[in-house]
Amino acid sequence: MGNSASTSIEKKMKIVVVGAHPDDPETICGGLMAMYSGLGHEVVSVYLTRGEAGIEGKTHEESAKIRTAEALTACAILKVRPEFIGQIDGNCEITSERYAPLLDLFKKEKPDIVLTHWPIDSHRDHRICSILVYDAWLNTGRKSALYYCEAMSGVQSQNFAPTDYVDITGVVEQKHKACFAHVSQEIEQTYSEHHGKMEKFRGMEFGCDYAEAFVRHVKSPGIYLK
Ligand SMILES: [Zn+2]
Repeated sequence: MGNSASTSIEKKMKIVVVGAHPDDPETICGGLMAMYSGLGHEVVSVYLTRGEAGIEGKTHEESAKIRTAEALTACAILKVRPEFIGQIDGNCEITSERYAPLLDLFKKEKPDIVLTHWPIDSHRDHRICSILVYDAWLNTGRKSALYYCEAMSGVQSQNFAPTDYVDITGVVEQKHKACFAHVSQEIEQTYSEHHGKMEKFRGMEFGCDYAEAFVRHVKSPGIYLK
């Protein structure tokens, strides 16, 4: 995975990003999503939940409605297609029944590249999301390249040592606009404290202004972001 984004693509790829909550795909790899949709690849933003528990003083139903709308706005900004899996925010489960929707998603979408949460994360839903995606990847024959993303490293993701970087400098404003669409989460007000620091630090490591960092699963097939 490099930063040699060109104006034409050799082969249209499908990139599927699976996050636990509305705002996760956008904050963990929104730059990559904007870049690849802009190059003509198909990008799908999958939300395990609708953020039911994410707004204080609102019922689950009210929060889900507000946060679904925010996710749809963010997806429109990134020019990606949203999908929702139907788990409940703050109460994500791993059961034999809960593996099925992710397996079905992999069978339906047949992604070339999958990105999801790094599994060592202080948020239980992020950990569960990562494990469900890993299971679906294994049980559909490891056909996609699997990349893990960091979420607020140090606060949420721990022990994250990147293997790959993407220069997102050219799309960083589009990424920010998509993240800030999650108005109920006050991301714009706190962005510079967490996500903003991360993308600048990863840029320092990679040698550009802003970057996103990833861990590539070593048993991924020979499909790379380029
Ligand atoms: Zn989250």
